[in-house]
Amino acid sequence: MKVLIVEDEPTLRKLEKRYLERNKFQVDEASTGKEALGMIEISHYDCILLDLNLPEKDGIQVAKELRERQNDVPIVMVTARSQMYDKLKGFDSGADDYITKPFDMKELLARVKAVIKRSSIEKNDILKLANMRIYPERNIVEKDDEEISLSNKEMGVLEYLLRNRGVIVSAEELLEHVWDSNVDMFSDTVKTHIKTLRKKIDPRKKNIKTVRGKGYIIK
Ligand code: CA
Repeated sequence: MKVLIVEDEPTLRKLEKRYLERNKFQVDEASTGKEALGMIEISHYDCILLDLNLPEKDGIQVAKELRERQNDVPIVMVTARSQMYDKLKGFDSGADDYITKPFDMKELLARVKAVIKRSSIEKNDILKLANMRIYPERNIVEKDDEEISLSNKEMGVLEYLLRNRGVIVSAEELLEHVWDSNVDMFSDTVKTHIKTLRKKIDPRKKNIKTVRGKGYIIK
């Protein structure tokens, strides 16, 4: 799961990043609304943690622009004062939830998880592949009553391929969507993860196919 933190206060941004990373999220950071919009255009995020008071474009403008672009990424808006809450409710800003500074990191994590979960239920997911049921939230694949645990990245790769079923997905695209932006784009890491993923759920390579020179596909 990948989160974009949009926060102009570096100390808080680092704190949030560290906490979310410790809880197994991949995290990118932006310090202005404009920068955030640019990043969202090129990368997929499972949740945006969006500060309300930002330079250039504030959180409400960013949320509105995203919704105008038909982007339904879950947004948790971070507001500075409790009275902002009522104001925000009046606005139809497009945020899915709000949290007021100062907040507890645990609460932040709970909100992030909740909006991601809600949006994946809306997308009515139980992902399926052959005789397997895939639960991205729990990093688990169920196969004939057996539960197979995947790592975060293995699940990320599997989920991305499943959501793009029938389409060849390149290693670069996987790196961009499943890893954070610090990943070495020339590394072998996708190959390694496909290998371990196959070992766990597709040892005969029946479901996850390699298309030589192009990438991977689930049909
Ligand atoms: Ca701010």
